[in-house]
Amino acid sequence: MIPYGRQNIIEQDIEAVGAVLRSDFLTQGEVLPAFEERVAAWCGVRYGVAVNSATSALHVACLALGIKPGDRVWTSPNSFVASSNCALYCGASVDFVDIEPATYNMSMDALAEKLEEAERSDALPALVIPVHFCGQSCEMEKLGALARRYGFKVLEDASHAIGASYQGGRVGDCRYSDIAVFSFHPVKIVTTAEGGLATTNNPELAQRMQLFRSHGVTRDETLMTGESHGPWYYQQVELGYNYRMTELQGALGLSQMDRLETFVTVRNRLAERYDAMLSSLPLTTPARRADTRSSFHLYVIRLKLDEIQASHRDVFTSMRAAGIGVNLHYIPIYLQPYYARMGFASGHCPEAERYYAEAISIPMYPDLTDGQQEAVVGALASAVGR
Ligand SMILES: *Cc1c(COP(=O)(O)O)cnc(C)c1O
Repeated sequence: MIPYGRQNIIEQDIEAVGAVLRSDFLTQGEVLPAFEERVAAWCGVRYGVAVNSATSALHVACLALGIKPGDRVWTSPNSFVASSNCALYCGASVDFVDIEPATYNMSMDALAEKLEEAERSDALPALVIPVHFCGQSCEMEKLGALARRYGFKVLEDASHAIGASYQGGRVGDCRYSDIAVFSFHPVKIVTTAEGGLATTNNPELAQRMQLFRSHGVTRDETLMTGESHGPWYYQQVELGYNYRMTELQGALGLSQMDRLETFVTVRNRLAERYDAMLSSLPLTTPARRADTRSSFHLYVIRLKLDEIQASHRDVFTSMRAAGIGVNLHYIPIYLQPYYARMGFASGHCPEAERYYAEAISIPMYPDLTDGQQEAVVGALASAVGR
């Protein structure tokens, strides 16, 4: 089976992790801060806070932003459930803004319209979480302008998008947001096995995320109430969690960062090859916005079902039967039973549902060979009857 995504691990990565195993600190040492600094420097942002997953990063980000029961949080329906679960962890309610037909990112027109309505009914969101789908940035400048006008915070779910650019800057630079979050799951661009990292330019937000990732406990006297009892002393000042990333993971991530530019270049080259090879088939290939460079975490095609005999399910099933590990990103989040129980029903975001009925993610990862890519295209051509 050719998988839809896969990590790239070389001897240098293995040696970096081995060196940590032979050292004194498996966690809470010097390697993790070096990894955080490396990612922050890459992005052109002041702070990086690494945690054990992007899900945890989204959670500590919401906590640092003060999301609480009664708040409203809006995100894209075309994402992994973690993008909205983070709001529920904080007791907030969630809603979904429909996607744009071309990029499958949150539509800024739909957002502007929903904000106007929400203002009239006094139900504005405290936070909006855009998702840079497949690694292509949302229209952050427009989102930033709406955030200023309506007074909400912005948390970018950039899980797909480390290495991507927008308007000449790097995704994660937080030019138009409060916090951005990356995932280092093995199918993503850079891996630490499991892991995530939040970036911000705001020192208080960085400090609060550091606190929430480690039990809400601090040894920093400036954060304490009253006097220190002595050199052993620490205080718990918030209800935090143990979301720490280990030194082994930090070492793997640091080593992987050496190849980030290569990873993104190779993924873009593979995407261009797919574009050319798929141009005569009855499907839509990914649209690029001129002011973005995608990191191509995923390559998603959309079937033109009115030009094909087979159904969406037929095409998906024949690809799997042909040994091609296709996938579907994403089922609209609100269609999940857990969300349906909150009252969401089909029809809530029609564009996301139309997309869901036609989309298939085909293999995309740096070690995908030209021959494997040809096999994918061959299987797809026969699945759609060409
Ligand atoms: C992968 C992913 C997450 C969760 O990342 P983890 O590191 O697995 O917790 C969140 N949001 C999106 C959009 C993702 O693709």
